[in-house]
Amino acid sequence: MSIWSSLRGHDEQRDMFRRTIERRRLSQAYLFVGPAGVGKHQFARRLAHALLCLRRGEDPLEPCGQCAGCKPFLAGANPDFLYVGCPEGKREFPIAQLVGPEERRGKEGLCHDISLAPLPGSRKVAIVDDADTMNESSANAFLKTLEEPPDRAILLLIASNLDALLPTIRSRCQLVRFSPLTTEDVQALLLEQDLVQSMEDARFAAELSEGSLFTARQLIEPELRKLRTLLFAQLAKTDFSGLGLSKQLQEGLSEISSDTAEQRRNGQWLIRFAVEFFRTALWQLQAVESSSAPTDPEIAKFAKRLSEQSNAWELLGASIDRAVDASLNIDSNVPVALSLDSLFDDLARLSRRSQPTRSPV
Ligand SMILES: [Zn+2]
Repeated sequence: MSIWSSLRGHDEQRDMFRRTIERRRLSQAYLFVGPAGVGKHQFARRLAHALLCLRRGEDPLEPCGQCAGCKPFLAGANPDFLYVGCPEGKREFPIAQLVGPEERRGKEGLCHDISLAPLPGSRKVAIVDDADTMNESSANAFLKTLEEPPDRAILLLIASNLDALLPTIRSRCQLVRFSPLTTEDVQALLLEQDLVQSMEDARFAAELSEGSLFTARQLIEPELRKLRTLLFAQLAKTDFSGLGLSKQLQEGLSEISSDTAEQRRNGQWLIRFAVEFFRTALWQLQAVESSSAPTDPEIAKFAKRLSEQSNAWELLGASIDRAVDASLNIDSNVPVALSLDSLFDDLARLSRRSQPTRSPV
């Protein structure tokens, strides 16, 4: 079985590497860029495996699985394969991973290890994950290796945010761009990896994931989904208290967010759910099927009520615009609590304008 069969998408990138290896035109440094959770890391690992196989067959991207390069690689013990990345929970790439701890500077770390000779007939392959989390000192420490990589060494850098990389790092790598996955691919991956309980959960998360398995995994968080249900139930009402809803949502947010960054991220999710709510209602009004997914009953109820209003389009448009503004506010560092209070207060006011006009007395 191919090592690539469990990876979805990115055929173009694979063809590019196949051709490049066949023509013996490999660069010494590549930079994989694309949204988080689309498979850049998985791609890099498979490529590294293929590059470390000592007995490649006709397809240079298919390692044999049996040789003195493959067997230790599969066991996680090939000395020619190096991996560094930002540890989970940390925001910055530890410089020690590149040049060793202070007391052993230059004697350990990736820059040292990659300079050691590979096994006979092999090469060194290093994955530098989360390269966009390097601060200036780390980037500068790494630069020398990147400028003059040892012979027979290949560096595969991975980053989600190209703008966060020092231009000096960027300019020394060949850029390989990765696109978001299709909704179908995300859905299939969620099911294949047993990350969801049901097809319905997989579809829900995949459709909102924007092609990222990372995003989809956040969405299957049961607590976040509970907040979505609460939000939908309130938005569907003719009269809800904007500030009351905001308060309830913020309580939920503080339970599931361990720090401010996470609170902002989850706050953005609530706003996206609100946009989803109004956008789906809009589709319903246009009688356009948004997808094969059945519409949420709360949205259906809301859309039905709106269909009796003459100003339905205007209200939906204004609600979506207002939500987009709130999201931009959070992006520009307006506190989450303030952004949500003002958003839901405005949405409640808009919603009251949608009440059926009472017959004149
Ligand atoms: Zn092999």
